[in-house]
Amino acid sequence: MEMKQLNDQCYVFCSSVNVGYVRNHDQGMLIDAAIDRSAIRKVVRQLEEQGLPITHLFITHAHADHYGGASYLVKNYGVKIIAPTFESVILANPILEPTYLFSGNDPLDELRNKFLEGPPIKIDIEVNEGQHQVDRFHFETIATPGHSYNQMALKVNGILYAADSYFGKDELHKHKIPYITSVEKTLLSLEKLKNVQADGAVPGHGLYEIDFKETIDKNIEYHQDLLHKVYCIILDKQTISHEELVSVFCADMGVKSSSLGPFLLFKTAVTAYLTALINEEKVKHYIQHYRWMFKINGEEGS
Ligand SMILES: [Zn+2]
Repeated sequence: MEMKQLNDQCYVFCSSVNVGYVRNHDQGMLIDAAIDRSAIRKVVRQLEEQGLPITHLFITHAHADHYGGASYLVKNYGVKIIAPTFESVILANPILEPTYLFSGNDPLDELRNKFLEGPPIKIDIEVNEGQHQVDRFHFETIATPGHSYNQMALKVNGILYAADSYFGKDELHKHKIPYITSVEKTLLSLEKLKNVQADGAVPGHGLYEIDFKETIDKNIEYHQDLLHKVYCIILDKQTISHEELVSVFCADMGVKSSSLGPFLLFKTAVTAYLTALINEEKVKHYIQHYRWMFKINGEEGS
């Protein structure tokens, strides 16, 4: 995990899931905690080697790949944890993530893995959007829902830690269907981040960039393109069930989902595009023979 210094206070540990770090005198705040104990140990080992303090942890959103290492930091460093409201409830009750992905049913044991459920943690300070002073740290939180319900990006000392509000260009194409819960909120969050003045930004997955707004534009285009693809499938099939649409779209995009966990993540993202098309009144939905069906609203589909 490569440690990169961004300015006098800000750092990033680059990996498949980035971890941020901000130092202010005798206090040091990690931003997200990686997926598990072994991943976060690679970060703290480097901080200790350089004599840098570990006292606080900010968690951007309650996805296990961003908080799985948090309980290790609590046990070994007694970090004070700051997290957004709502996300904090999931962090304290992490079975909620496999539960909501499993349509609210008690999740099968195979869904209770480290990719979907980390060890529970108690949040010391809950935050919403705004300016905050926590001990030595002054920072701004920017609500970026759409990927997770109340995800917060963090702006501190000129650097934007953007969480999973956008993906790096390579990661966008690698993930193929990025996980989202709402297209509308995702697009609004992306537009909002374009207006943030920062010296540079780090996404949760991808590279630190000074010129990050071009990457945000690529993300906007990508989601609009996927939205259009879902619309075209419905137009082509005239009527299609939810199950069939998920299958056709995932096959078109060439994603791999050989087990239930990844399949449910893709299914949630596809449903986000569908609900956007319903909200825009471009697509109608109805129940027929116990199947959730879709067709184009108006002349085109008739
Ligand atoms: Zn995430």
